Amino acid sequence: MNRKINFSAGPSGLPLSVLEHAQKELISYQNNGFSIMEISHRSKTFEEVHFGAMDKIRKLYGFGDEYEILFLQGGAHLQFAMVPLNLSMGGTAEYVNTGVWTNKAIKEAKLLGINHKVVASSEDTKFDRIPENIKFSDDADYAYICTNNTIYGTQYKSLPKSKAPLVIDASSDFFSEPLDFTDIGLLYGGAQKNAGPSGVTVVIIRKDLAERLDNDRVPTMLRYKTHTDAKSLYNTPPTFGIYLLDLTMGWLLEQGGLVAAKERNAAKADLLYDAIDNSKGFYKGHARKTDRSVMNVSYNIAANAELEPVFVAEAEKAGMLGLKGHRHLGGIRASIYNVVSLNDVKTLVEFMKEFARKNG
Ligand code: PMP
Repeated sequence: MNRKINFSAGPSGLPLSVLEHAQKELISYQNNGFSIMEISHRSKTFEEVHFGAMDKIRKLYGFGDEYEILFLQGGAHLQFAMVPLNLSMGGTAEYVNTGVWTNKAIKEAKLLGINHKVVASSEDTKFDRIPENIKFSDDADYAYICTNNTIYGTQYKSLPKSKAPLVIDASSDFFSEPLDFTDIGLLYGGAQKNAGPSGVTVVIIRKDLAERLDNDRVPTMLRYKTHTDAKSLYNTPPTFGIYLLDLTMGWLLEQGGLVAAKERNAAKADLLYDAIDNSKGFYKGHARKTDRSVMNVSYNIAANAELEPVFVAEAEKAGMLGLKGHRHLGGIRASIYNVVSLNDVKTLVEFMKEFARKNG
């Protein structure tokens, strides 16, 4: 079978067993004579998938009944607006700016005329780090961070403490490691990196925050409460995406859940960063060592930037996809989400060594 190694930042690869499972029952779901795509979202058959996916997410993260899970549409981008629309109470919303994605979230708060403040930023060093000494005000309406910065390859090693509810864009490190939910008010991300296909945005929200909105001019679909009240079945949800998400969550549980995922991801990242650090300066990582992401490894060919497109093209010929860096940063980016195996990373590392030997 012709399957490439997929290092794309997203949409990224899905587990082969998930794709095969979906393929097998694409036309007749569990021998019922219809595809899961072809039935009502109000049917018992679909509800089992929908609530089954939610149960698996609860099992993986282990948070309590005070949280609801939503499967929304509009991507992380819509959450940039839904968060301030729903959670601002006329006080101040506080943000940490760690790059393109937090900048976009801040821009939406601004657009909506919401009182907000950037309490820490790493812009001065081209977003190569997570800012030090992050301190949120106890009475902030919410405290917003992005745990993993997909473009710059930086990641929080622990969550900042916050009395105000933490709001987290976890788009690119969702389901990659266990999380302590103590301070978390809302966590969200598109499914297309670690959880399934694009088109489903998973939102985990503390129930009291969904009740917060006190503004009858906010459209129905943009209110968290609309969706929590309806158990995320207010309108027709992206049913096929939720089905694939359910299968992917099942796969993750079979692999040992988030503790095991964290170990596997750390081993992969160590291998790749070691290859960069031991390349005698041929490759150079973007992020500061202490803040390096275990999901997105952004680096350059420091010896000669002109070799970067050659690297990407040759890697593609060797069966490795998606290694071109984001246009904001250039260079190379290897995204090593849950589905990328240690062996896949070994293949990349061997390729990198050979490329450096030939061109160094
Ligand atoms: N936040 C982060 C951290 C991301 O990596 C991305 C997408 N790469 C987004 C937000 C935007 O996601 P979407 O395209 O689902 O709106």
